[in-house]
Amino acid sequence: MAASASETQESRNPATGEPLAHVPLSGATDVDAAVRAAREAFPAWRATSPVKRARAVFALRDLLDSHRDELARIVTTDMGKTLDDAAGEVGRGIESVEAACAAPHMLKGDNLEGVATGLDVEMVRQPVGVIGAITPFNFPAMIPLWFLPYAVVCGNTFVLKPSEADPLTSARMFELIDAAGIFPPGVVNLVHGGREAVGGLLDHPEVDGISFVGSAQTARLIYRRAADAGKRVQALGGAKNAMVVMPDADTELTRSGVLSSAFGAAGQRCLAGSIAVLVGTEAEQDRMRDLFVEGAHELKVGDGADPATDVCPLVTPAARERVAGEIAQAEADGAEIVLDGRGDSGPGEALLGPTIVDRAAPDSRVLTEELFGPVLGLMRVPDLDTAIERVNASPYGNASSIFTASGGAARAYRFGIEVGMVGVNVGVAAPVAWFPFSGWKASLDGDLPSNGADAFEFYTRKKVVTSRWP
Ligand code: NAD
Repeated sequence: MAASASETQESRNPATGEPLAHVPLSGATDVDAAVRAAREAFPAWRATSPVKRARAVFALRDLLDSHRDELARIVTTDMGKTLDDAAGEVGRGIESVEAACAAPHMLKGDNLEGVATGLDVEMVRQPVGVIGAITPFNFPAMIPLWFLPYAVVCGNTFVLKPSEADPLTSARMFELIDAAGIFPPGVVNLVHGGREAVGGLLDHPEVDGISFVGSAQTARLIYRRAADAGKRVQALGGAKNAMVVMPDADTELTRSGVLSSAFGAAGQRCLAGSIAVLVGTEAEQDRMRDLFVEGAHELKVGDGADPATDVCPLVTPAARERVAGEIAQAEADGAEIVLDGRGDSGPGEALLGPTIVDRAAPDSRVLTEELFGPVLGLMRVPDLDTAIERVNASPYGNASSIFTASGGAARAYRFGIEVGMVGVNVGVAAPVAWFPFSGWKASLDGDLPSNGADAFEFYTRKKVVTSRWP
């Protein structure tokens, strides 16, 4: 809905520059209309049995499944990632819908009989109310589906504000949901827009909970403002994920894991591996550096719609400019650009090739900040203990991987590393939907992450009833 939006923002295909749509930038009036619709739908929806709600979510699963290819094509056209990657994203989103179908089991309560003579205690789970979700550009299909199915299956009603940079996937998903009549009117609602729409959700007294995914800076803002307004909030933020490469690591596993993690989706993933920590002697470190430089050199940069493409464009020409500027800064600060992707930016002016930066200062942005582009920084350390220390020095704590043939090294890493998602000989260690997407430190503000059993915790309140019958 966008009755009051007076401004629009153009969305373009980042591979071709072709204009795709004008996104309405809704303000507080549209948000208010959506929240009111959600509030009105809430009493009847929360009184609908969990089994019936789960059946509706099961129907959503079938609907999305029958439109997998279409949705993946929209993701590629609007956001830029390759068709394969987009299909993977849609599949991951559908997995979250499947996980939400476990609601009748997950919503069961607890009880303790006879805590005193004739006294019984029972805990039941009830929905929170109206949930607002604010999502980023880099997973336009999957991340809305980290929230919508769990929120509504728990009996909440829902308002989504997707990224204004690539809104077409959510627009299509909501069109499909409306046409199929899966939920009663007002249970799920969509509002397009930017900061003003977000402000409308955060300040609205009828919004009870906020689910957010985006950069760490925005996550912190959202967390503070929503918590200040007394709302339940989970805010998943940005990341700087390191991949530790031991000298004994399997060459092929490491090469493919590191390259896909650093350059897949042009580095625009919160699980992107943007640092390779090379462990060992100078010669061992050089061997791994050469492996990555040679491998990255072979990757094909281009339109995500071309099946031969490995590295897609960035989401906008402005994002490309920003990341190219970061590479220039690293170079000016004395780092070695051992592979330079700043060539032809393509017809959409958003292409940037894989770039590898060696011998940057430990406190340089390329080794400490999320650049969100196809840039791999190399960090050289003598041993595993130093690698763990350096990775743990980051304020972020989303994910980290180790590549090694040693079970002992893998175990020490898994025990000591301060991140919420760990990969062992796996590059992008994205948990399947039945586990939490569990960022630590600045990568998650709030107590509960998305997905898995934590989603049912976040979207329900516990009520404890103590009873005595004469
Ligand atoms: P972003 O923070 O710019 O935007 C995210 C959402 O917040 C959008 O809907 C946007 O409209 C809104 N927004 C942006 N600035 C705002 C402000 N100042 N006030 C209110 N609302 C604002 O993030 P992005 O560029 O769309 O997405 C990329 C970021 O998301 C990266 O940092 C990435 O690591 C992170 N991310 C994290 C996870 C995770 O699970 N931790 C997953 C995916 C992406």
